[in-house]
Amino acid sequence: MAARNSPAQSDGAKKERYPQLNHEARPRHLGSVEGRLNQFIGGHYAGVNLSALHFADRKDDPSHVSLSVWSAPGRSKPSFAEAKRQTYKATKKGEQFGPSWTNHWFKIALHIPKEWEGYERVQFEFDCSGEAMVFTTDGDPIHGLTGGWGEDRRVEFIIPPSARKAGVAHFYIEASCNGMFGIDNMAPPDQNRYYKLNSADLVVPNMEAWHLMWDFQTLHQTMRELPDDTPLRNRCLHVANEIMNVFQEGSLESVTKCRKVAEEILGEAWEKEIGKESKKAAKERGALWGVGHCHIDTAWLWPFSVTQQKSARSWSTQIDLMDRYPEHRFSATQAQQFKWTEQLYPSLFARIKERVAEGSFQPTGATWVEMDCNMPSGEALVRQFLYGQRYYHSRFGFKCKTFVLPDTFGYSSQLPQIARLAGCDNFFTQKLSWNNDNDFPNSTFNWVGLDSSQILTHMTPVNNYNSQCNMEDIRRGMTGNKNMEVTSQALLLYGNGDGGGGPTPPMLEKLRRARAIGKHPSAGGQIPLVHMGGSMDEFYAAIRDETKDARLLPNWRGELYAEFHRGTYTTHASIKKGNRKGEILLREAEHAATMASIASAPYHYPQKKLDAAWEDLLLCQFHDVLPGSGIGMIYEDAEERYANVQKIGAEVLKSAYDVLYPGSKAIEEGISGMDLFAINTLPGVPRLEVMEVAGKAGVVAQRGASGKGYVLVQAQDGLGNVKALDGSVQGVKVQQIGESLIMSNGTLKMEMKEGRIVSVYDAQADKEIIPEGQSGGLVIMEDHPNAWDAWDVDQFHLEKQTHLSFGSASIVESGPLRGVIGTSLRIGQSSIEVQIIMDAVPASLKADARSMIRFDAVVDWREKHKFLKFELPMTISAENATYDTQFGVVSRPTHRNTSWDNAKFEVCGHKFADLSEYGYGVAILNDCKYGYATEGNVMRLSLLRAPTEPDANCDMGTHAFSFAIYPHKGTFAESDVPIVAAAFNMPMQCNISDADRQDIASVAKRPPITLEGAPNVILETIKRGEDDEADGTFCIVLRMFEQYGGHARPTLKLRDLAIKKIQLVNLLEEPVHEIEVKSTTFAGETVHDVQLCFRGFEIKTVRVCLERRRKEKERRGSSGSWVKV
Ligand SMILES: [Zn+2]
Repeated sequence: MAARNSPAQSDGAKKERYPQLNHEARPRHLGSVEGRLNQFIGGHYAGVNLSALHFADRKDDPSHVSLSVWSAPGRSKPSFAEAKRQTYKATKKGEQFGPSWTNHWFKIALHIPKEWEGYERVQFEFDCSGEAMVFTTDGDPIHGLTGGWGEDRRVEFIIPPSARKAGVAHFYIEASCNGMFGIDNMAPPDQNRYYKLNSADLVVPNMEAWHLMWDFQTLHQTMRELPDDTPLRNRCLHVANEIMNVFQEGSLESVTKCRKVAEEILGEAWEKEIGKESKKAAKERGALWGVGHCHIDTAWLWPFSVTQQKSARSWSTQIDLMDRYPEHRFSATQAQQFKWTEQLYPSLFARIKERVAEGSFQPTGATWVEMDCNMPSGEALVRQFLYGQRYYHSRFGFKCKTFVLPDTFGYSSQLPQIARLAGCDNFFTQKLSWNNDNDFPNSTFNWVGLDSSQILTHMTPVNNYNSQCNMEDIRRGMTGNKNMEVTSQALLLYGNGDGGGGPTPPMLEKLRRARAIGKHPSAGGQIPLVHMGGSMDEFYAAIRDETKDARLLPNWRGELYAEFHRGTYTTHASIKKGNRKGEILLREAEHAATMASIASAPYHYPQKKLDAAWEDLLLCQFHDVLPGSGIGMIYEDAEERYANVQKIGAEVLKSAYDVLYPGSKAIEEGISGMDLFAINTLPGVPRLEVMEVAGKAGVVAQRGASGKGYVLVQAQDGLGNVKALDGSVQGVKVQQIGESLIMSNGTLKMEMKEGRIVSVYDAQADKEIIPEGQSGGLVIMEDHPNAWDAWDVDQFHLEKQTHLSFGSASIVESGPLRGVIGTSLRIGQSSIEVQIIMDAVPASLKADARSMIRFDAVVDWREKHKFLKFELPMTISAENATYDTQFGVVSRPTHRNTSWDNAKFEVCGHKFADLSEYGYGVAILNDCKYGYATEGNVMRLSLLRAPTEPDANCDMGTHAFSFAIYPHKGTFAESDVPIVAAAFNMPMQCNISDADRQDIASVAKRPPITLEGAPNVILETIKRGEDDEADGTFCIVLRMFEQYGGHARPTLKLRDLAIKKIQLVNLLEEPVHEIEVKSTTFAGETVHDVQLCFRGFEIKTVRVCLERRRKEKERRGSSGSWVKV
């Protein structure tokens, strides 16, 4: 180390180890030394400090770098083969390319000077201001590049040794006119932006200077992060200052000396030591587990097509890094992105497979995409895992053990059960660190779901999933750990997400130094030892080992409610509707197709079509698509996918109905005198409903002024018939009495005055639902969130609200079957038309069921930053309200006692929410909405928002949706609200046929599969087995769940089916155990009884294997598995 002051020795004096005399001033360092450390890299002294030594040479003239370009037309994204065939024209640095979202192919020839042979490394630096990918001349994508000047800048590509030897290198670069965060980050994108080619240079980096930069930065950051009173902090300050003293302007020799000085902290010959360890990385010990990651949003500020490029760029870059950093492990999620890579970049996919086999590239996460977890139905969440795990298994030979979902806006309380039943024992996330109000109390814990299933959960104390590996993050991995009493292990997910290409060489260099400094004798208790080379699965195994199989860890029960982004339950209404309608249609399509395959041997179950539809639906559940938080472009893509789901669903239904109901068709205008029947797709749910049919149909019981006709349809099982009006049906009447419009049937009377619902009176219970002086109706609120426009709604929106009146109310229909009040209202530039409907019959056939009051709304929405809701004050007092969630219900407070209660001022519910007290309750149902709130005795359903970022036109246009008030006797647990909400979302379909219905398949007349003896267990899904096509079996898969939170022992009844065996299976349809069947034959019909047992909110999947019939056997052989791309 250089001496600060050279003492002048007097002639002839003997050099003593500790001289007698000392004439120096020799001060302690003043605080300004800390500031001095900022001068060593970049900044004001960049011309003379270490940064001036970064490059030994640089060439950009045409004799060294020859560039030509072909611009793909429009927003097209041609393949390499197509691009290669085109004619290229010469170009140069400084040229602009555009507009936004276009792709430009560069043909590049590099001539490498002979005199560069001795250098350690030669790089090509290509900065197109946007994103790019390097291809070999054979079309192999080998490296991604991210231009611009952010921290995520990655513009170098190392010239391979073979090309250096040859003196020439040829390759192609596909440059795309978008940045990491789309075009304009969170602002709506400027569609006409141009991108400058900033750099296309052949450069020689000084690797020793580059390494010194990371040495110095590590000391500097450690000094900044550690408390003032720690020895290591002060040693780092001292040594970093010494490095600056030893450094000589422009001298590479001094750089080597500086690195030697750094060894005082990092350890003598530390690089060798760490390098040795890196080769046997997985055996390292440590508390902070570094696993590389790249969070690629499947669509957000860019469309799906750009994500396909982002994945390929990022993943090829990671494969390139693995050779130079053997300790590096990279984890990637989302089967959909793997599938895109497999389809579009097969050579890259082949290299990924090799790396997966050796364990350095780690597919994880288990699901199809990183989905939103608030809004998808229970069955859709199941399919996220089913499609994800089956893909991983088919391609890589394993299923994921760790469910990874770092960035979603709240976590359903059924996730622990669903993830466990899909093969995952572990869960990683971190988004709750964003909570606006409450600090989540655990880092590592058992998350216990609605049914008491648990999953070992880690929310990294680092508080991000894209660490830059700075000392701040390394330290927080220890200091932020909330469960240190039992474990101090934590995960560090490092890497730039989205277009940043994942982990970078600087991150890996920083991690190597963090490992070295962690071994310093003074580091104990200050800096965690960093562990490299492991996997997430191994991390969780280590936690289990340390915590007696997690028994030492605390539990958290129920949903992980995210205290932010509450607007995402409502933003982009059409996407929510596409999701709900798609989920319901696919349920009905699978059900009908399964029945058709039972009814007819030649019928072919359309597995491939259904797979395609499910993949589209699952893709659109990505956590910036379904929540409505992306740019406008992605919703054009999503609408197309939803249209495809509808098209496939309709085709599947039609072909199945052709088998089940031959010769019949959906009713249309102008048809009369034909035989009308209805299809009930809720197995085991008898229904009695008023249905609208063409006015001319001969059977209508009420012919409305609007030209519509109404019939009463009764369905005992799968098939409904028109029921004649008799004395059992009390008519509904609508009357104008004074200023009031009154609509009533035998039990329910609604009064509307000045456009507000002032009374809903239940005559049978002698109960008034609306409190004196209050009214129900539409309400509009100013919606100016402090940040995250599309995502957030802040609590203060409730403080600025205006009650709206249903305007121009008039009587449209006045019974006897249906009463309709038409209303229309203009507000600002918008119009809101709502029909308020009451039927003569109750909403269900439960003995004491009431009617519902239905609202069919058509809104032309032109407001900005306004929140439209429907609200209903009720004479009901309860501490909690009940909300429909995946496979069950979730209870949330109506009061605001604690900060945790207070944060739940806007929550997610699916088809209904309910407020009940002893004896009575009221539910609000909906057909495509997800936002609810219950404030005291007022329940609100969120209808429409209008944020302007990142989509300037979000929700502008026409919306049609329905909701309803459903009063019921008893508490929620005593009610049939879930069944009524299901029926509300799955109306019967009216069909007609010429025939006398002899042709209708017996399975359509009477469902062969029913669940009896427990009204709290719902048969949700009926489908064919996933492996039926591949292995030629004939299986029916039934998914059931307990709805209310109690035990149940239903009997599954299977009629006239040639049963081979019945198994309990998991969500991946893998057998758990066989189930006993009791068969009885009576009057020629064989009934198989299967006794099942449920705990509250339990999900059970049963596979019924049938004898395959001859036609099926013949057909088999040609059909391939869905896994073929
Ligand atoms: Zn994300």
